[in-house]
Amino acid sequence: MKEGQGIRFEKVGVIGAGVMGCGVAQNLAQTGHSVLLIDLGEKQLERARQEIRQSIRMQSFFKKSKPAKSASEVLSRIQFSDDYSICSSADFVIENVVEKWEVKQSVYRRLNSVCPPGCIFGVNTSAISITRIASLTRRPERVVGMHFMNPVPLKPVVEVIRGHHTSDETIEKAQALLAAMGKEGIVVNDMPGFVSNRVLMLTINEAIFLVQDQVAAPEVIDRLFKQCFGHAMGPLETGDLIGLDTILYSLEVLYESYNDDKFRPCPLLKKMVHAGLHGRKSGQGFYNYEGGG
Ligand code: NAD
Repeated sequence: MKEGQGIRFEKVGVIGAGVMGCGVAQNLAQTGHSVLLIDLGEKQLERARQEIRQSIRMQSFFKKSKPAKSASEVLSRIQFSDDYSICSSADFVIENVVEKWEVKQSVYRRLNSVCPPGCIFGVNTSAISITRIASLTRRPERVVGMHFMNPVPLKPVVEVIRGHHTSDETIEKAQALLAAMGKEGIVVNDMPGFVSNRVLMLTINEAIFLVQDQVAAPEVIDRLFKQCFGHAMGPLETGDLIGLDTILYSLEVLYESYNDDKFRPCPLLKKMVHAGLHGRKSGQGFYNYEGGG
């Protein structure tokens, strides 16, 4: 639809080069887009280069075929930078910084001043209200939630969130970009956590309470979900994949947004995050990944 509906985005800014930002940048570059990938400094950007190279290698391993574009070809389409001003040439930005309101707040104020007025802001957040994010900008009609799934290049569906002021044209453009990335967007209305994470975060949190209460070990809990309900992954494996820090921040957003105790983060989750056990990305969570698991 990038070309098919006459909508084409030449340069896409991707803000934040962590788990999600790397996946979004890779997916965009693999589908022929020029990408401006922004993070805080060279350390984070170099880690992102390695992550993307490794992810393309894994993709070809699992697909057992050579990817359409080599890693160096994909990387050559991505400009890595810590300078937001390069986004002055972006016609679409997808933001993927850490799930903290204060960080998102300063990022959107900056983006609003450097990006052209017509540039659309796609917010990749686990739980923060899109309407609240849009209120930080002078273009609320051009702000739309784009809740990608992890790992981005392998997941065909994205939860698209319509904020209070999001225009139909913005939804159409977001859908066009997703189609050009080989994805389909499912549109829902805005409330913190949207559809998927309002349910998923509670499930993962409750599974962590089960571990804390010694009702069952992580493998047993995950096995029940996989074998009884046919889920591809259990809740604790899913928590490790998302990142336990991101789970904690998302629960904090939900707790603060709804003022409802049901979203209170499990103390064991807090303890693990404070100990640096963030799941796959740190090598240890409910499971060990140090061997590359
Ligand atoms: P992450 O911690 O892996 O990466 C966040 C990145 O943001 C880091 O590289 C950090 O250096 C960077 N960053 C922090 N402040 C910045 C700034 N001011 N400017 C530019 N970059 C900055 O987190 P993640 O898992 O990639 O999550 C990113 C967003 O996507 C969060 O809002 C999260 O809730 C959401 N999300 C995560 C998942 C998931 O499975 N991990 C899924 C969907 C949505």
